Amino acid sequence: MRAAPVIIIGAGIGGLAAALRLSHAGFDVTVLEAHPAPGGKMRTVPSPAGPVDAGPTVLTMRPVFEQLFEDVGENLSDRLKLNPLTMFARHYWSDGTRLDLFSKREESASAIAETFGNGAAKDFSKFSDRAARLFNALDKPMMQSAAPTQLGLTLEVLRNPRSIGDMAPHKTLHRLLRGCFREPKLIQLFGRYATYVGGIPDRVPAILSLIWQAEAQGVWTVEGGMHQLAETLMKLAKARGARFQFDTPATRLVKQGGRITHVETADQRFAADFVLFNGDPRALHEGHLGPAATTAVPAEAVTPRSLSADVMAFSATYNGPQLAHHTVFFADREEDEFNPIAGGNRPDDATLYICAQDHPTTASTRQRFEIIRNAPAGLTETQEDRQRCQTQIFDRLRQFGLSFDPMPDRTALTTPMQFDTLFPASQGSLYGRSPQGLMAAFKRPTARTAVPGLYLCGGGAHPGAGVPMATLSGQHAAAAIMHDHSLTSPSPQMATHGGMSTA
Ligand SMILES: Cc1cc2nc3c(=O)[nH]c(=O)nc-3n(C[C@H](O)[C@H](O)[C@H](O)COP(=O)(O)OP(=O)(O)OC[C@H]3O[C@@H](n4cnc5c(N)ncnc54)[C@H](O)[C@@H]3O)c2cc1C
Repeated sequence: MRAAPVIIIGAGIGGLAAALRLSHAGFDVTVLEAHPAPGGKMRTVPSPAGPVDAGPTVLTMRPVFEQLFEDVGENLSDRLKLNPLTMFARHYWSDGTRLDLFSKREESASAIAETFGNGAAKDFSKFSDRAARLFNALDKPMMQSAAPTQLGLTLEVLRNPRSIGDMAPHKTLHRLLRGCFREPKLIQLFGRYATYVGGIPDRVPAILSLIWQAEAQGVWTVEGGMHQLAETLMKLAKARGARFQFDTPATRLVKQGGRITHVETADQRFAADFVLFNGDPRALHEGHLGPAATTAVPAEAVTPRSLSADVMAFSATYNGPQLAHHTVFFADREEDEFNPIAGGNRPDDATLYICAQDHPTTASTRQRFEIIRNAPAGLTETQEDRQRCQTQIFDRLRQFGLSFDPMPDRTALTTPMQFDTLFPASQGSLYGRSPQGLMAAFKRPTARTAVPGLYLCGGGAHPGAGVPMATLSGQHAAAAIMHDHSLTSPSPQMATHGGMSTA
């Protein structure tokens, strides 16, 4: 019996999750990856202190990963050491205000009460309840659903009428937060969660307040860095027969008889019953893989674009205020950050997020850092722009009393234009289509495209960006391929490679 050949283009987390599921189910999986290593945006850059995470730094929504491992007969904890973060983040404002948020809600509430008073702590508790209700109401009909529909959402609202109030459908996140919090600094803090999916707080729907709940449920660091997650998924997929080819960009999709049948690289041609694209779906629309796939997704599924970022990844010792694993140094005025970004420009003052990957380590030890500053997608830039960006970041940190030794050089910086090169056709946008607008969630492409034989997974596809969401997209894509294969196959798929059967 012939195993159905599947070509997966891209070894980002979505592609890896799908490769694992499909190889476990007996498909003949080949992954073609343009970069020299798996992980995509979950990448590292070398430093004298070891590889520095230059993408995501923590894991949230742990059940998504537990489910993936369980479905292929594995146990997450046997394969990866995850350490819970008891303090989510330390936040500094330039007027000297400091606030820590913790994994235990009561601890966060007391920290808020101590810093901003009891009223602010009550606001926080009410907001957290609301975010939890929203998350629970939308998990099934939206995140876990392969193709969410307005009807599914309406049914959820009918079942649970309170959820419509929690969704606040005609408010932006920023407007909702203004109604929830009396303390402007908390509006700024919780508004920043919009940027986790590439949105601007006063442009994205209030529904995105649920992102706080994704974090409130727990945050884990991965021992050895986030990249270990990618390495582990690859290892498990390989053990089930999947093949990986690195430094191998797919250049063209070939259509025969109305269906994608082959994938071409510079010097190879692969036959495929199913092709799963894990790159930015805009690449298909823009013809980066040839004319056969330009109609795979409509323009509105890939525009407008989500945010990009300026990212510094380096190792150094530091001097200054105590850092946590995650430390946030806020811009003085939110509007000075987001108005320029909305207009397509780099802001002069922007919130800076620092991950001290080796925390807790004494400040005098050389350790690894990632600094992220939001920036618009689509920026073109000169060498001077890059230099100015780097100078601005470190000047701003110096205002908070923070300095590094040695100062990182230019190679530590990745800008929107460089992200566009790393992730073709993305325009540097790190989260696919922008989450702005009430209907954004329904406009994102789903696993099945308009071109038979071609499927999508990754942060640019439903249910959206972020490591857990892209992992879920891999699950949706694998399920779609298995389902479509079962419709066309005269005989069942080959026996699975060990372990328990796939759900
Ligand atoms: C700086 C930064 C910080 C982040 N922080 C967080 C965080 O804290 N938490 C969180 O959950 N998420 C975070 N994210 C987002 C998260 O990293 C992404 O949403 C997720 O990793 C995207 O996975 P993906 O499946 O879309 O694949 P991607 O990571 O986009 O990878 C796609 C892969 O496809 C390959 N590819 C594309 N086209 C081709 C082709 N033609 N041929 C061969 N290969 C191709 C690319 O080389 C790439 O390796 C962050 C991202 C960045 C950049």
